[in-house]
Amino acid sequence: MKMLLTGGAGYVGSACLRYLIREGHDPIAFDDLSEGNRDAVPADRLVVGDILDKDALVNAMREHNIEAVMHFAAVASVPESIKDPDLYWKVNVVGTKNVLDAMRETDVDRIVFSSTAATFGFHENMPITEEHEQRPETPYGTTKLADEWMIKEYARAYGIGYAFLRYFNASGADDDGENGEDRRSESHLIPLILYAALGRRDHVKIFGSDWPTRDGTCVRDYIHVEDLAQAHKLCVENIKPGVGRHYCMGNGDGTTVLEVLHAAQDVIGREIPHEFAPPRPGDPATLIATPEKITKELGWKPKYTDIRQIIETAWRWHERYPEGYTSKAAANA
Ligand code: UDP
Repeated sequence: MKMLLTGGAGYVGSACLRYLIREGHDPIAFDDLSEGNRDAVPADRLVVGDILDKDALVNAMREHNIEAVMHFAAVASVPESIKDPDLYWKVNVVGTKNVLDAMRETDVDRIVFSSTAATFGFHENMPITEEHEQRPETPYGTTKLADEWMIKEYARAYGIGYAFLRYFNASGADDDGENGEDRRSESHLIPLILYAALGRRDHVKIFGSDWPTRDGTCVRDYIHVEDLAQAHKLCVENIKPGVGRHYCMGNGDGTTVLEVLHAAQDVIGREIPHEFAPPRPGDPATLIATPEKITKELGWKPKYTDIRQIIETAWRWHERYPEGYTSKAAANA
């Protein structure tokens, strides 16, 4: 299937693009390269463009005879969204409206949307299922929930089929160590732990030591990017116009920040410098998903269910290319 992947040169988008190629699909990335990396996708599969430019979206969809869209492009930092909601409402909501309007103009009637655990906000009872109430606590979460509502309303009125994948903690790298996480400004736990291991950072900060969890640090559900990619493929192949699906995408297992650190130390075989720091605004204590619904309905089967395996893939990439795609370009020059 011919697909346009907005944000397709970013971390999750490019992992999906490479996976879809291996699975016999025909994906094109549409990315402004503000966070994405040119070298994460084959050159003939990249259109450089911004989702705030609707005409550029229309042109890309027309030129490549697009049949389905996977919409990854977004701004996605909780702390930044609290400081700058204007940016989040613009890129995430106006940008998504442009994607939907471009789809209407070009008769594309399927979309897989990258949603987030942040749309659920704070809940006591875990794991989170598709039935939990969505009550986001941050502009990142509210803008992504607004997108879900907008997509649903467009779907009902204009016969679009959709799937929402609410990601928990996307992590890991391609198994061969050739592609992985590389953001301009990194805020995620696993890459920051590995940067501290490599000496790119003095240490990693552990945000909070007094959370109501088994060791006082936050619990998250880490899911490998390739397993997320498999979910995108299953969704796009099973979307029907006018019908919607929504899934919580985690492994069903919670890991604390300290457990992630210890697993990384085990994988690498040495101590990683770390320091405790105050809690980060907007962080819930625990977020765990259950992937039962997508397993039952679409036969999703994760390849990486253990945090060690996930970290091993990430470490292979970061160790080989300590400065990410900059190191990779230098190695290949
Ligand atoms: N975290 C941390 N130090 C860091 C980055 C993250 O202790 O430098 C914690 C964060 O508070 C959260 C977990 O690690 O509990 C995962 O954070 P991340 O930013 O990777 O993903 P999020 O859960 O915010 O989507």
